[in-house]
Amino acid sequence: MNKKKIAILGSTGSIGVSALKVAAAFSSYFEITALSAKGSNVELLNEQIKIFKPGIVAVHDKDALIRLRSMNRTKGVKFFSGFEGQLKLIRECEADILLVALVGGSGLIPTLEAIKCGKNIALANKETLVVAGELVMREAKKKGVKIIPVDSEHSAIFQCLNGEDPAKVRKLILTASGGPFMKHTKQELESITPEQALKHPRWDMGKKVTIDSASLLNKGFEIIEAHHFFGISLDNIEVVIHPQCAVHSMVEFVDGSIMAQLGIADMRLPIQFAFFYPERQGNNIPRLNLARIRTLEFFKPDLNKFPALCYALEAAKAGGILPAVLSGSSEAAVNAFLTGKIKFTAMASFIKKALAAHKNIKAPNLAQLLSAERSAKEFVEKEI
Ligand code: MG
Repeated sequence: MNKKKIAILGSTGSIGVSALKVAAAFSSYFEITALSAKGSNVELLNEQIKIFKPGIVAVHDKDALIRLRSMNRTKGVKFFSGFEGQLKLIRECEADILLVALVGGSGLIPTLEAIKCGKNIALANKETLVVAGELVMREAKKKGVKIIPVDSEHSAIFQCLNGEDPAKVRKLILTASGGPFMKHTKQELESITPEQALKHPRWDMGKKVTIDSASLLNKGFEIIEAHHFFGISLDNIEVVIHPQCAVHSMVEFVDGSIMAQLGIADMRLPIQFAFFYPERQGNNIPRLNLARIRTLEFFKPDLNKFPALCYALEAAKAGGILPAVLSGSSEAAVNAFLTGKIKFTAMASFIKKALAAHKNIKAPNLAQLLSAERSAKEFVEKEI
């Protein structure tokens, strides 16, 4: 049997590590042909190279690459460095699926490069579609490139839509855990520390997405992501808080039927689904025990307590460059919160300010989107 060739961008991050667990569990099905990483965890990358023997490795940080090369003796590996190195990897690697598991705004250009090369993509980076959803989906369509969602909510919707007529969808219902602070009062949110915010009750994820989940901004990103992925209008996408995280999202059809996808909260599941798509494969991942959960709750998000979700929706509805401003400003705000420069609740305020400070541009091109994202980041850094 020919193995499916897989390339992973962002292999030492949370999704990258989970993806390699899937690849290791199905080593007779998958072959890892390329890995890229920022270079912040050279030891882990070194281990990954030894185990998976990719033909190409790209490291963003040049010094990290020098350290990596001094410790890694694996034969037949081509090393690239810098931002350009990652693009070179995308062009040169053989891949039936390229997993984009990069953090924040760094996912967009590599995704566009993969599309240009005609490589099918498993997309775990939501900012790519937040910043340039229309452009990315249009280019993918032009090139006949498949984009399979890896975000758990979008994987759920993708599975619910399988075999259905898209014209018969009435709405998408995204579920949210609500994050660790659902029961906090507005005042209590003021004194949240980064350590508290980094402890997500259900999902084990990277830092950026964990903080965005705690502020519910992540759900705003996911609405925008779903809008582009599935071509559903923003008005027909609803968010419900569902603390048990058993239902990963739902689709309501014109006849009132609702389809839901359930499972344990483990990123290996959507990753495995994307890697095997269109097939399904058995695994040894623990099962959801409904009798043990007993109760599934659903309720409306409190937008007064978590205004970031509102701002995300406003930016999405305005369109143009504002979703890029949203993404850029949130990246700077999350960094500032994590380094103790601003309060948890100030993140949303800075995002709001950045959105108000940017004049919108209709139907922006890529350069305008990237410039808006950068300018929003700088705006927040300066304000802080
Ligand atoms: Mg998600």
